[in-house]
Amino acid sequence: MTAPAPSEKVNLLDLDRAGMEAFFESIGEKRWRAHQVMKWIYHRLVDDFAAMTDLGKALRATLEARAEIREPEIGVSQRSADGTEKWVLKLAGGNAIETVYIPEPTRGTLCVSSQVGCGLNCRFCSTATQGFNRNLSTAEIIGQVRVAAKALGNVTHQVRRITNVVMMGMGEPLLNFDHVVRAMSLMRDDLGFGLANKRVTLSTAGLVPQIDALSAAADVSLAVSLHAPNDELRDRLVPLNRKYPIADLLAACQRYQAARPRSSITFEYTLMRGVNDQPEHARQLIKLLRRVPSKLNLIPFNPFPGTEFERSGEAEIRAFQKIILDAGLLATVRRTRGDDIDAACGQLVGKVLDRTRRSREFKARVGEKLDAA
Ligand code: SAH
Repeated sequence: MTAPAPSEKVNLLDLDRAGMEAFFESIGEKRWRAHQVMKWIYHRLVDDFAAMTDLGKALRATLEARAEIREPEIGVSQRSADGTEKWVLKLAGGNAIETVYIPEPTRGTLCVSSQVGCGLNCRFCSTATQGFNRNLSTAEIIGQVRVAAKALGNVTHQVRRITNVVMMGMGEPLLNFDHVVRAMSLMRDDLGFGLANKRVTLSTAGLVPQIDALSAAADVSLAVSLHAPNDELRDRLVPLNRKYPIADLLAACQRYQAARPRSSITFEYTLMRGVNDQPEHARQLIKLLRRVPSKLNLIPFNPFPGTEFERSGEAEIRAFQKIILDAGLLATVRRTRGDDIDAACGQLVGKVLDRTRRSREFKARVGEKLDAA
């Protein structure tokens, strides 16, 4: 017996608006049909072509034969005591990724993954311990938003809406550039999820050429994972720094701001006891922050099994913040959410198969010496 042929249907979740229009033209339909179907997919969250009642029967049959709407399936859902929700999503082939929803009084933020695992090897992130397996497809990225929107819609006793999306889950989004850009366009498209540009944030460990490419490709908010105020320390915490040191990274941020004057930049800084949380570090950081108008987001370190690091004490965190604020700069402390279900920053692991080989391939591909520490 031969194995069944893989589905040759087009997964419509892989297509942005232009791709949808091209697909509908390819089956002899007008472009506005693509728009109608996008509304069914992203506004009404319908999966079944038969339920798309404003399409003719013949078109519905064509779609049934040629296309599909396929997203990751929920493996496990967990709800934290603080209302944070985490879904472990199953991917074809046995891998799994994690998506997290964080409700706050005035907004609901969805934290979306971009890769299965991650190859960047940041010392303080549990995703790094999983190694890298592969990039997610557009459908797997936008599918996370759709799965969450459906799941949250089922919760009737509370208003739970997705008002913001942050590409801050598993993976380095700028190393999965095309799929991430396409998925972010569906998040912002009126025929997609219709979020304002500034409510979609891409977080990066600092890939300089791709930050430049992003400024040309999308108008979104940028978050940059800084975590250290000098190259010596950052080389250790974020090995990517050996390739793109702080000065180069800040210059890329300045170019991003020049190209996208309306989009904001946030620097993320995870505070680890005795490592990067001393007053001297804060003072060094001020000099860097003065070069790029931005906000500093201080993240108390979230521990995970096997880590060598500890969270800074509350007094150290406040003292660090005060030094920054006293210099007239913006600094907030991110409240830890969902850590009782391992849903907090840096705690997402999913399930990453076959990671060693893929990690090696990945490192060869990006030409990094990320293991060298
Ligand atoms: N690769 C991207 C996005 C994923 S990380 C990036 O590096 O930005 C999302 C954020 O969580 C980053 O700022 C990351 O540095 C932070 N983070 C990772 N591990 C953490 C931990 N253990 N505790 C707190 N924050 C962590």
